[in-house]
Amino acid sequence: MKQLVVVGGGWAGCAAALTAAKKGMAVALVERTDRLLASGLVGGIMRNNGRFTAAEELVSMGGGELIDITDACSRHAKLDFPGHRHASLYDVDMVEALIQQALIRQGVKLLFLHRAVDVEVEENTVKAVRLNQEGLILEGAVFIDSTGTAGPIGNCSRYGNGCAMCIYRCPAFGPRVSMAVKAGAEELPIRRAEGLPGYFSGSCELEPSSLAGWLLEEIRAKGVVTIPLTGELRAAKVIEAIKAKACRQYSSAAFQDNLILLDTGAIKMMVPYLPLQLLRRLDGFERAIFRDPLGGSKGNSIRFSGLVRRDNRLMVPPLENLLVAGERAGLVLGHTEAIITGTLAGYNAWRLSRGDEPVELPRSTTGGQLIAYARQKARSAEGRRSLYTLAGGEFWEHLQRHRFYTTDREVIRRRVESAGALNLFA
Ligand SMILES: Cc1cc2nc3c(=O)[nH]c(=O)nc-3n(C[C@H](O)[C@H](O)[C@H](O)COP(=O)(O)OP(=O)(O)OC[C@H]3O[C@@H](n4cnc5c(N)ncnc54)[C@H](O)[C@@H]3O)c2cc1C
Repeated sequence: MKQLVVVGGGWAGCAAALTAAKKGMAVALVERTDRLLASGLVGGIMRNNGRFTAAEELVSMGGGELIDITDACSRHAKLDFPGHRHASLYDVDMVEALIQQALIRQGVKLLFLHRAVDVEVEENTVKAVRLNQEGLILEGAVFIDSTGTAGPIGNCSRYGNGCAMCIYRCPAFGPRVSMAVKAGAEELPIRRAEGLPGYFSGSCELEPSSLAGWLLEEIRAKGVVTIPLTGELRAAKVIEAIKAKACRQYSSAAFQDNLILLDTGAIKMMVPYLPLQLLRRLDGFERAIFRDPLGGSKGNSIRFSGLVRRDNRLMVPPLENLLVAGERAGLVLGHTEAIITGTLAGYNAWRLSRGDEPVELPRSTTGGQLIAYARQKARSAEGRRSLYTLAGGEFWEHLQRHRFYTTDREVIRRRVESAGALNLFA
């Protein structure tokens, strides 16, 4: 049977592997660490703003398995807080094992602790991926690069505040290596406002047991707690850190004036970093410690330092059997966004393996819009100064302006049906 090799087991790689395996392809998923989901292990926010519409589209398209799992392990649903409507928060400690079981049930071969280091290309066809273990080579008919955009450590040192020992755990498991770049695809730089490459990841996690009992109880009960900031904390640290964040929905004043804490199992704090000794001056934080990144006083991972050219089918020209998904698909940020692009990449891998042309997602869907919009923006240096998500910033404005955003499941289903995409991925 023709094999799909997926490199990178974040949300995008998991969605790609699951979709292709459901269609009957043999799938090997290569992950350099000992767990799946990577940045999905520290996020948790789903179904906020346009992500609700996109999640329901996926369900109607027959690709809703991963959405169902995140719903099933959500600690809170329908939460409103600044910049967010009807958000769900999945439990970051529960979700990974459930995803792993779903992949195994579909027959996906999981290769943990294997890092892809190179590719073998003949003319415009990728033949194999070389792994870090001596002599180990994985041949395939189609390949997907879903290695994300975080790391290597050198990027965090040069463009951030140094390696802060974050969820990607590069010192333990080795740096990210992009298959698309190794196969010869052109990579363009992404620069944040100050001209430096990349953005800081946008949140940290606190260890729940290190917060005062009354504060922890309140966060657990409400799902979200907003603490007004004054003095040194507000003036210097938060504003400076927020500016460097990847996610644009947090650039509002509410996130500069307040500390916003979410219950994702861990306590998610919506700033990239904050000096611990300053944080401990707040009521209830006297014994606080960071859970992720361990060096939370200093910084978080640098992501989105570069993007690869791809078309709207997620193919990487001129290569004939290489697709990209998730953050590797360029300027696209978020769990739901990674699941959508991963699902399309997995589906197109299956089509390629049968000799069929890969397809685009219909432009009448939010997913199709996202993929095409981000590609269009990638063409100009100005467009590459921003990131695009279903939940914030200019693309979220676009979704509302053009009436793509709705929470009406029946409207979404009918839209998918009239686009001819009902049960496309089933
Ligand atoms: C701190 C933080 C909080 C976030 N919070 C949210 C949130 O609440 N909601 C939301 O929607 N989005 C959130 N995001 C963004 C979201 O998590 C990402 O945009 C999305 O999950 C990216 O998925 P991905 O699969 O593209 O990449 P990644 O999650 O980066 O996964 C890439 C995977 O590839 C593996 N890999 C890399 N190189 C190799 C190699 N050479 N060989 C084998 N494996 C390799 C890595 O180990 C990793 O597992 C957050 C991100 C961060 C960092």
